[in-house]
Amino acid sequence: MTREDIIERLKARPEPAVLVIGGGINGISAFRELALNGVDVVLAEKADYCSGASGALSRMVHGGLRYLENGEFKLVRESLLERDLLLANAPHYVHPLPTTVPIFGVFSGLASGALRFLGLSRRQGRRGAVLIKLGLTLYDLFTAGRRALPTHAFHGRSGTRRLFPALNLGARASATYHDAWVSRPERLALEMLAEGVAAGGLALNHAPVIRAGSGLELSDSVDGRAVPIRPRLVINATGGWIDLTNASIGTRAPRLIGGTMGSHLIVDNPALYRALSGQMIYYENEDGRICIAFPYLGKVLVGSTDVRIDDPDAAVASAAEQDYILASLSLVFPDIVIAPDEIVFRFAGVRPLPASAAAVTGRIPRDHFCEVIEGTPPVLCMIGGKWTTFRSFGALAADMAMARLGVARRIDTAGLAIGGGRDYPGDPAPWVAELASRTGLAETRVAALLERYGARAAELAQHFGPDAAIAGHSAAELAYLIANEQVETLADLLVRRTTIAITGELSLRVIDRSLDLLSAARGWTAERAAAERRSFLDLLATRHGLSAESLARRDPRTQP
Ligand SMILES: Cc1cc2nc3c(=O)[nH]c(=O)nc-3n(C[C@H](O)[C@H](O)[C@H](O)COP(=O)(O)OP(=O)(O)OC[C@H]3O[C@@H](n4cnc5c(N)ncnc54)[C@H](O)[C@@H]3O)c2cc1C
Repeated sequence: MTREDIIERLKARPEPAVLVIGGGINGISAFRELALNGVDVVLAEKADYCSGASGALSRMVHGGLRYLENGEFKLVRESLLERDLLLANAPHYVHPLPTTVPIFGVFSGLASGALRFLGLSRRQGRRGAVLIKLGLTLYDLFTAGRRALPTHAFHGRSGTRRLFPALNLGARASATYHDAWVSRPERLALEMLAEGVAAGGLALNHAPVIRAGSGLELSDSVDGRAVPIRPRLVINATGGWIDLTNASIGTRAPRLIGGTMGSHLIVDNPALYRALSGQMIYYENEDGRICIAFPYLGKVLVGSTDVRIDDPDAAVASAAEQDYILASLSLVFPDIVIAPDEIVFRFAGVRPLPASAAAVTGRIPRDHFCEVIEGTPPVLCMIGGKWTTFRSFGALAADMAMARLGVARRIDTAGLAIGGGRDYPGDPAPWVAELASRTGLAETRVAALLERYGARAAELAQHFGPDAAIAGHSAAELAYLIANEQVETLADLLVRRTTIAITGELSLRVIDRSLDLLSAARGWTAERAAAERRSFLDLLATRHGLSAESLARRDPRTQP
């Protein structure tokens, strides 16, 4: 469906049962739940799908070990269940992640943990072996009976040294447990969106929802059109923007959100990559904040910070945030020095946490819930939530919406494979070999497509062809994404539909070749194309720490 088609259909359906505002993972999850259950639903996203927190997460699919300290047992149990469901339903993107916690003390953190649990302390203390043992035992208990992943194990000083020779010598022990990571969260969201659309829903990006007169309207920021809409119910799934959205659609609601900003770095340093031994290191810095580093698509993802912020549009991974993250990394790997040009990408987002008076950001509850603000139309606000729990949160919002609309649930998504996770091969090697011989493509190309699109690679491989000249992608592949996945900007294509930006494969040449494809598909004038190029370079410089000069250096023969 082209943008034109979607807008025409929206105009023909001005009174849907539900309008979901916000195309992050939670809005998309609620949209999918409603559409699959036969509800007439529309989703509108002001920028691009997953351009908020849902593209800025640490990419962990986890129970949340540290939330146990805050007594959030229900959340951890639910998250572990959703993690295990995702390992089964989205095996193309969600993978097991062995995780090691270096331990520097034995009893430290016990007293402060207990006091925090009882609400008698707000201090964030360092965690010792006994506290970590307690947490990991609970983790294993919560998953007993399913055992999708191995239980935890402790290593003494010499075992730790053998596993991680570059680790700070002060580590007297370590503990290894298992969680999971997601390689392409944005693509997984797009797959769910497509399922909602296939079931009859309509979704439009680059279309903020605003109040217009006595009603609402989708304001098309691509062509400046306005599409009036009169839903029976609104779901406000705008994460860190919830309060701003309520204000802009004229809903009188109390303050619901108190977001915190977090930044990450993608590091291309072979010594650091080797030092991780294929695992995530889950460590705390000197102020007791948990940080992480793990191998991510050939590079290392390191994060994150946790700073209160009022305006989610102002979230930027700054040079100061970079310094903080590198300083904490040097506590665990003191001999590994990261050069500035080894930071190939950085990104930030806002955790949509419930409004809270907690003095320490790590103490703000991570759980999710929905609150309905009565009015015309009523507005159901989705507050809080982790990426890991998007399915159960979306189901909760959809159930509340369906109860109001008098619609009975007919599909449970708990056991439903997502997108290219359907028919995903248990053993990829023979699958890849068979498809390679059927299509004549190299096995490496087929394997890359399987990683990117899951089992859908079987239908896409022939069409995408053998060449991979644009940062590992063929022109046909990028043209397909532009035509079929609502790509309106270079950032949509290079930051979210693909992992080209995050894996450090952007260069001026890659940008220009992609711009040619986008420009041709949209029929842009040279001026319009030049404006898009400027705007993308500006975004890379201000939000992701990438200057035009650094992009030119990756591509020595092009000029900024
Ligand atoms: C630094 C960081 C690390 C994290 N790490 C993890 C992790 O490892 N694992 C995990 O499980 N969770 C993690 N999370 C949490 C997780 O990312 C979020 O809870 C989740 O992505 C929130 O999704 P959302 O859809 O509610 O919000 P968002 O993804 O922020 O989506 C809200 C959307 O609403 C849109 N919008 C705003 N106003 C309007 C309007 N008026 N009209 C239309 N659209 C509008 C925005 O553009 C945005 O796309 C992390 C979060 C951050 C920030």
